[in-house]
Amino acid sequence: MKPVKVGLCGLGTVGSGTFNLLTRNVSDINARAGIEIEISQIGARRDNPDCDTSAANLSRDIFDVVNNPEIDVVVELIGGTTVAKDLVVQAIANGKHVVTANKALIAEFGNDIFAAAADKGVVVAYEAAVAGGIPIIKALREGLAANRIEWLAGIINGTGNFILTEMKDKGRDFADVLKEAQDLGYAEADPTFDVEGIDAAHKLVILASLAFAMPLQYDKVFCEGISAIQPIDVQYADELGYRIKHLGVARRHQDGIELRVHPTLIPQKRLIANVDGVMNSVLVQGDGVGPTLYYGAGAGGEPTASAIIADVVDIARSIANGGKGQGAQALGYIPEHLVNHPIVPIEEVETTSYLRMSALDQAGVMNKITQILSSVGASIEALIQKEPQSSGQDHVDIALLTNRVKEKQINQALLEIEALEAISGKVSRIRVESLG
Ligand code: NAP
Repeated sequence: MKPVKVGLCGLGTVGSGTFNLLTRNVSDINARAGIEIEISQIGARRDNPDCDTSAANLSRDIFDVVNNPEIDVVVELIGGTTVAKDLVVQAIANGKHVVTANKALIAEFGNDIFAAAADKGVVVAYEAAVAGGIPIIKALREGLAANRIEWLAGIINGTGNFILTEMKDKGRDFADVLKEAQDLGYAEADPTFDVEGIDAAHKLVILASLAFAMPLQYDKVFCEGISAIQPIDVQYADELGYRIKHLGVARRHQDGIELRVHPTLIPQKRLIANVDGVMNSVLVQGDGVGPTLYYGAGAGGEPTASAIIADVVDIARSIANGGKGQGAQALGYIPEHLVNHPIVPIEEVETTSYLRMSALDQAGVMNKITQILSSVGASIEALIQKEPQSSGQDHVDIALLTNRVKEKQINQALLEIEALEAISGKVSRIRVESLG
């Protein structure tokens, strides 16, 4: 049988990791695929000292790879949504299967890309696009295929989790840890995608589409990052028995699907609350299986390559079995069964809230706050009220947890609390999920 010929586009962190892992483990990988897999061509603008490609067929123009009639599978590892999109579209038009780690491309343009691939009878596989080396796409699409998924929640951005972990363990502030994350190469020079939640939103949309049989709806995700989290919130969360994590949550709701990414207080006793540093984790609740938890490296050259190569093996295995690369559908369901479920507006989402405010240290203030909360149907479930640290200190911190109420009710209460003369500045609010 003739080998399956792979063309690798991009030789950065993941491209070099893929080259190295595939080269190192090629005999096991081939034995698993049942067919020989070879990297026939690499498209890279420059060499990468992390891998020895001296014996490889290397082109400086990545489009040479997609236009090479010999190539069966194009692995897109350049990132972004401009050239990468052109590259993928061209590969599909040329009848090639595509494997990609590009979550932005899949989240924003996946619907059209999958449709074009289906027309051409080729596969676009993207296991590496969510949670790096954790096989969460396969788990949702195949391993949990018997279940009605009720909700899922994940720590799906390693940089954000690294920052929050450092803030918790060392009491450092956000800007200080972000600088270190950039120096360590975890965060991009422009960290917006990581710290403002955009990267996590890209990934959540993909997971939600697989879980709830819906087309990708990136523009509907509620997205809040971690840049406003203060060390004091991390400390009070700890005192209340919680950890702050940046969480993507997708939940079936009677009126549609909740789709939201935001900092979240999680009870310390939950396993996912103890996922630290750059690690990722996803919790999925199915009606048959119950809760399942997936944990592992969400980024890095070889962890991500592990997922890339798994996709290549799936395609190669199908070819070896006389198929054309096809296995499961791109979003797990045949396209006619995908439903454009409404996305629940964030104002209608019901959660517990953590509120922190700076209040004048005088009698009656707590009463007023309680009254305002009660007027919107909220009650106080837990409270930290600090004593002044010195005789000159006239304001003290109050941190509290409410019961579960709709977001719009808490928003109304926040406006009224912030308007009180006894309250200085804005009230910090962080949503709470019990994940029980
Ligand atoms: P990277 O280290 O920046 O590597 C990108 C590679 O693509 C470089 O070889 C770069 O070449 C090349 N490239 C970029 N734009 C190009 C263009 N217009 N024409 C030709 N070559 C171009 O990126 P990465 O971290 O490997 O990420 C690759 C993809 O994997 C992205 O979609 C990313 O989101 C995804 N991903 C990454 C990780 C991770 O841990 N890094 C994890 C999961 C998913 P130059 O060196 O010449 O610029």
